[in-house]
Amino acid sequence: MALKTTIFAANLPKQVLYIMNTKIAVAKGDGIGPEIMEAVLRIFAANNVQLEYEFVEMGKSYFDAGHSTGMTAAAKDTIEKLGILFKGPMETPKGKGVKSINVTARKVWNTYANQRDFRTLNGVETVFSKAGIPINLTIIRENIEDTYGGIEHLLTYDVAVGRRIITRPGSEQVIRYAFEMARRKGYTKLACGHKANIMKLTDGLFLEVFQEVAKEYQDIESSDIIVDDLCMKLVTHPEKFQAIVLTNLQGDIVSDLCAGLVGGLGFAPSANIGDNISIFEAVHGTAPDIMGKGIANPTALLLSGILMLRYMGFTKNAATIENALLYTLEQGVHTGDFGDKAIPSSGTQAFADAIIANLGKVPADGGVIEKANLDTRANADHHILTKNKLTVTRGIEEEMVGVDVFVESNDLQPAELAELAKKRLTDNFDLVMISNRGTQVWPTGSIYTELVNEYRVRFEKKPGVAVTQKELLHIAADFSQDVKVCSVEFLMKFGGKIGYTLAQGQ
Ligand code: NAD
Repeated sequence: MALKTTIFAANLPKQVLYIMNTKIAVAKGDGIGPEIMEAVLRIFAANNVQLEYEFVEMGKSYFDAGHSTGMTAAAKDTIEKLGILFKGPMETPKGKGVKSINVTARKVWNTYANQRDFRTLNGVETVFSKAGIPINLTIIRENIEDTYGGIEHLLTYDVAVGRRIITRPGSEQVIRYAFEMARRKGYTKLACGHKANIMKLTDGLFLEVFQEVAKEYQDIESSDIIVDDLCMKLVTHPEKFQAIVLTNLQGDIVSDLCAGLVGGLGFAPSANIGDNISIFEAVHGTAPDIMGKGIANPTALLLSGILMLRYMGFTKNAATIENALLYTLEQGVHTGDFGDKAIPSSGTQAFADAIIANLGKVPADGGVIEKANLDTRANADHHILTKNKLTVTRGIEEEMVGVDVFVESNDLQPAELAELAKKRLTDNFDLVMISNRGTQVWPTGSIYTELVNEYRVRFEKKPGVAVTQKELLHIAADFSQDVKVCSVEFLMKFGGKIGYTLAQGQ
């Protein structure tokens, strides 16, 4: 019987209903999903985990049945009501123009922090385990923003652009989560991986927020590292890192690199944490090549389930099951994708049976001890919302400075385009620069810069003049009489600082 309490929290807005719940939504997933989910839920049952499951309909067959989001309306309602989704991997049909259900679920429900724990497991041989170098690190990847917004356009037949969205509230949410997680786990340091030397405004904002939030966590040593250097150091000295927070795409790549350090995707769990809804799943996919053969490795899903148990406060179950898993691996029991080839491999359910038989045993190093606060969040309980949350930084002075007009030209040289642009100038504006693929080609540039058929033409207001958005749009509209305008971007100053980048060579 699930424990369920519903109360109105005094310190929350009136429309927020506060629910504490031990019932979770479970989606078995596609491919090997049902097999590994069965194995994990059997292990939970054998350890008397007091969770109640509501199975929801999501995945490939629901895309095929015409649900464009890959889930039924009832599944969406259940997940929003219960707040926790434990899911198997899901396939996104190719060539049907539908978006990945895995990415959609993370974005729609604002599970802003993707936590992936990587550590050396006894019985899982890697170059580092052989060298006696232990790995125990956590990657926190921002989960909503960045290029995963999927906002892309073809500006000309030859030129595709994507928008990379990094926001102050989004960065703050995930960075604060990373510091809190570091504290809970007893880590002493947290690094921020970034590429702010190149992406000065997007990664620059993420780094700026990291440095601001770090001031509130003086007990955690904070540092930042450029992501390419980070990759090299992770491969040469992974033991030097405890926790790293990154933006979405860089975090995606770095976390798969880390999976490789500890034995591959079969051992990589993940938790997608939000303030209201959280999703727990393995990092790997549906493994269609081994589907139905009964040989899939359930470890990554089990480790994800253990993260979920801790998150919900089932710390005793989490420790017992984790110790049984570690003991089982140490005994050399393995599925076909890893382990000592001299020992015959076990199928998925036999592997789970071995773990069940070992419940109560601990590995030679003493295993994990039950820590009440390890990964358990004070606000793991679920809020039912009645309107969308909107976060804005207010009170910042803004100034409109100019406009970048992106135009298509299939034959004009930069100087010829500049002459056309000048014709459209009013007394309030200067033509300051033209770039091609981000490199300045006018008023100065190199004849060796190769061009494509999309230029950026920058108009800036003269010093001391105040301009309106309407005037800036007029420039673009007038210019469209001479060339095809592909896109327009306003140039702004916020708090006196310029909110746009200069061209390479400007
Ligand atoms: P994959 O992770 O499914 O498989 C890659 C390789 O790893 C395969 O050889 C597979 O057999 C092996 N493998 C993966 N998990 C395993 C396990 N538990 N035990 C043993 N071997 C395992 O990646 P893919 O082939 O690129 O993707 C297949 C499908 O999965 C695609 O439709 C993709 O969109 C989807 N996918 C879903 C998720 C998710 O649900 N979060 C994540 C990644 C990929």
